[in-house]
Amino acid sequence: MALHVKKFMDGRKTPREVWSENIGFRCLRCGRLPNVVVRSYIARDDLFRRGMPAALPALMRRYDGNLPTVPLIDGKAYVLIGEAAACHDHQRDLEVDCARAPSYYVAVFDRGPDDIKPMVSVA
Ligand SMILES: [Zn+2]
Repeated sequence: MALHVKKFMDGRKTPREVWSENIGFRCLRCGRLPNVVVRSYIARDDLFRRGMPAALPALMRRYDGNLPTVPLIDGKAYVLIGEAAACHDHQRDLEVDCARAPSYYVAVFDRGPDDIKPMVSVA
């Protein structure tokens, strides 16, 4: 009988490390690989109601003249207005920044996948 332990990428990297290297962001403050990526959204209705039209031209250029929306928590249409990333050491600063943002901003935190436990099989 032999015990086989199958690890993700043979144990060379964790799923979170692979996510961090491939997400396409760097920490805003120091440039290291991110531990968290935050996407900020605003409800499309609020975009006009909250006096955001000054930001509209830049948003329209970014999205080639459209305002693509995604449904979030409450089913309303939200527009992605910003993305930021932080490494392990700076993620608290980013979280504080998000907490200080106006209440009608919605911040979605992406911390990557959970690490996978090694698969053990007995043959
Ligand atoms: Zn950093």
